[in-house]
Amino acid sequence: MTDCIFCKIITGQIPSDKIFDDDQVVVFRDIRPKAKVHLLIVAKEHINNLFEAKPLHEKLLSHMLLVAPMVAKQEGLHNGFRTVINTGAGGGQEIDHIHFHVLGGGGLPRF
Ligand code: AMP
Ligand code: ZN
Repeated sequence: MTDCIFCKIITGQIPSDKIFDDDQVVVFRDIRPKAKVHLLIVAKEHINNLFEAKPLHEKLLSHMLLVAPMVAKQEGLHNGFRTVINTGAGGGQEIDHIHFHVLGGGGLPRF
């Protein structure tokens, strides 16, 4: 996706504060953090959002969920963290490239 900000971050065309990278995902800090720690787990494959996810993405999606506690611990969130997945305009999604938010460390309102 040539116009996708997250695809450009994945290919290195746009810089990011990356904290984790493997064959399926990249994790970097959100540029406008909504909590003391605010990470984005981004699939390397361009999928718009959960509406576009297919059964063939099952492994990728479970991998993204398993990366969440791993990077949370890496960032010192031993007490817990929040995971948010916005889907479509109705869910407040701004960037149409599938990603999971990981938030914690203070500054989170009650949900
Ligand atoms: P969403 O509303 O779920 O699509 O979230 C998109 C998130 O990406 C927002 O929290 C933005 O602050 C964040 N964001 C946008 N551009 C960048 C960027 N260049 N680097 C890091 N985070 C970004
Ligand atoms: Zn993309």
